[in-house]
Amino acid sequence: MVNLLKSFVNFIYPPVCPVCSDLVESHGSLCAQCWAHFNWISNPKCFKCGYPFPADLDLGPKPLCPHCASGECDLDFIRSACVYDDVSKNIMLPFKHASQLKYQTLMSNSMINCLRDLNLDIDVVLPVPLAYKRLFKRGYNQATLLARPIAKHFNAVLDVDSVARKYKQDMGHKNAKQRRENVRGVFNIKKLDNIRDKKILLVDDVMTSGATFYELNRILRKAGASAVYAVSFCRVVHAI
Ligand SMILES: [Zn+2]
Ligand SMILES: [Zn+2]
Repeated sequence: MVNLLKSFVNFIYPPVCPVCSDLVESHGSLCAQCWAHFNWISNPKCFKCGYPFPADLDLGPKPLCPHCASGECDLDFIRSACVYDDVSKNIMLPFKHASQLKYQTLMSNSMINCLRDLNLDIDVVLPVPLAYKRLFKRGYNQATLLARPIAKHFNAVLDVDSVARKYKQDMGHKNAKQRRENVRGVFNIKKLDNIRDKKILLVDDVMTSGATFYELNRILRKAGASAVYAVSFCRVVHAI
């Protein structure tokens, strides 16, 4: 019955590639041509923070970037589906600012995929909170839309109210250190019991310097989280 209903829906609304509108196998998936345009992050990459290394390097099974090797990354793992470039930006920005929700399935599926080899056990999926001022202006938190199917996949609780964010001016094009200072103290924990002893996955659309993830990790650890992971759809890749 479910299959029959599915075929009927697919007949009325055939699945199309969200980028070019060509027919595809299932709703939310890209056609082969559009898929090939993305810079998907695969191995070799930093085992801890997911920083992509040049494809021709053979660095063994669990290589670390200099940042992680020096112990500067306190999160257990960070992963991103693809590199932030003109292709991913053309999905991410309309999704974030122009309600282009047709990209939601593609984005969340690719995020689930990039976590697959870690076999994570997750209690709570926590979308990076927006300040209320931004939430009311935009009408939705793009990170929550991405986090919902991810929480369902991991059979975890989607938590949108245990951590709040204060409004602060946009960070603009600041360097990593300034971004870290700018975000320090903007989050605060509202419901400690939902955090203590929990394994938490943070979800965001883009990772720029990692400052937001690092700051959330800091306060979640302080509140007793037992593990903190993070995933984003795309990430800015600086030379290191
Ligand atoms: Zn396409
Ligand atoms: Zn790393």
